[in-house]
Amino acid sequence: MATESKTVLILGGGVGGLVTANELRKGLPKQHRIIVVDRAVKHLFYPSLLWLMTGLRQAEKISRDLAVLERKGIEVVQGEISALNPATRSIVVNEQALTADYLVISLGTELDPGSVPGLSEAGYNLYDLEGTENLRRALKNFREGKLAVVVASTPYKCPAAPYEAALLLEYDCRKRKIRNEVELDLYAAEPGPMGVAGPKLSAAVRRLVEKKGIDYHPDHHLSQVDQEARILHFSNGHKANYDLLAYVPPHRVPRVVAESGLALEGGWVSVNRYTLETRHPSTYAIGDITGIPLAMGKPLPKAGVFAHAQAEVVAHNIAREITGKGEIKHFSGHGECFIELGDRRAGFARGDFYGEPTPQVKMFTPGPHWHAAKLLFEKDWLRRWF
Ligand SMILES: Cc1cc2nc3c(=O)[nH]c(=O)nc-3n(C[C@H](O)[C@H](O)[C@H](O)COP(=O)(O)OP(=O)(O)OC[C@H]3O[C@@H](n4cnc5c(N)ncnc54)[C@H](O)[C@@H]3O)c2cc1C
Repeated sequence: MATESKTVLILGGGVGGLVTANELRKGLPKQHRIIVVDRAVKHLFYPSLLWLMTGLRQAEKISRDLAVLERKGIEVVQGEISALNPATRSIVVNEQALTADYLVISLGTELDPGSVPGLSEAGYNLYDLEGTENLRRALKNFREGKLAVVVASTPYKCPAAPYEAALLLEYDCRKRKIRNEVELDLYAAEPGPMGVAGPKLSAAVRRLVEKKGIDYHPDHHLSQVDQEARILHFSNGHKANYDLLAYVPPHRVPRVVAESGLALEGGWVSVNRYTLETRHPSTYAIGDITGIPLAMGKPLPKAGVFAHAQAEVVAHNIAREITGKGEIKHFSGHGECFIELGDRRAGFARGDFYGEPTPQVKMFTPGPHWHAAKLLFEKDWLRRWF
């Protein structure tokens, strides 16, 4: 068993980084250093942004200071990572170099609304705190007209989120008794909802959306927004008017990861699909920055549930290598998600995304119990890791 002190450097204090740090601290004696680096001061529980959008949450209730982790013996460095060398397991943050024995990269995706002309000026970003807070304010004054939810391009994280957003906005309009005055459209760059989970589940989600009178327009890849005339332009030649626009922006691999040379194929980071190790020994990548091809030909969806499970595997295997205790674990490709429907109801899907030839994912009958389970999950997340 190794007794010398080892350092594990974790890049990102989002879902993957937070879970890795906590699990490692549980598995490693105190002599080993665990360092988390993030530009953000606070960890935000992203699933609750959709409740914040309609006034059901406040930002301070769904975020926690990362510095709290220091109490557990996890070092937290706040700053922008400006350079990354996966081969030497070193980074530059706040103009200082840090090098480690193990590197875990969980830097998520970079949101890139600026890559669609007119988009950021015209609407509200559903995927960041500022955008959803501004959308909530705009909704208060919105009493009639065309409300458009747009998924600009693929891939994007949390394949359920835009569908949930449209359903929660529909519910909000009903609660405010303006539903008859509002036309709701959902334009998506993909051919159907949550396609990787299979045609049956995709059709079921589509039905849930359309049953609420939301007009669904698949295969609409956003190319431009004319803010003055309030017109959406799609690459299939279609155009559509809107009065209020909520969007999921294009996603790309974070700049510092792209510059490190790690993200070669398809723009995302290739890893061993079971251990999450990159081609550089002792350097791991987990969560949204990874590109893991599935047998069906599409990549594993980007979702917190996978970042979480991958973090547990990587933390366990690093602790095992350092302490010599336990057996190697493998990421199984299993995942699950809630789908908020409004009316305090939700659906739930769970399955094996590594299933061959196609993922095996089952959707359970929606009801109030899944919504209650999601409330519990939120509570547990914010308590358990901080
Ligand atoms: C509205 C919404 C709802 C969602 N709902 C769900 C859900 O219900 N279920 C689910 O499974 N998933 C959900 N997700 C997706 C989930 O949040 C992500 O998949 C998950 O956060 C990915 O974890 P990660 O660790 O890969 O990246 P993140 O959690 O995004 O963490 C990346 C971290 O890296 C930091 N960072 C990046 N670059 C740098 C840099 N250069 N220097 C310093 N720090 C940097 C960022 O500040 C960030 O904190 C949702 C997402 C959104 C937006």
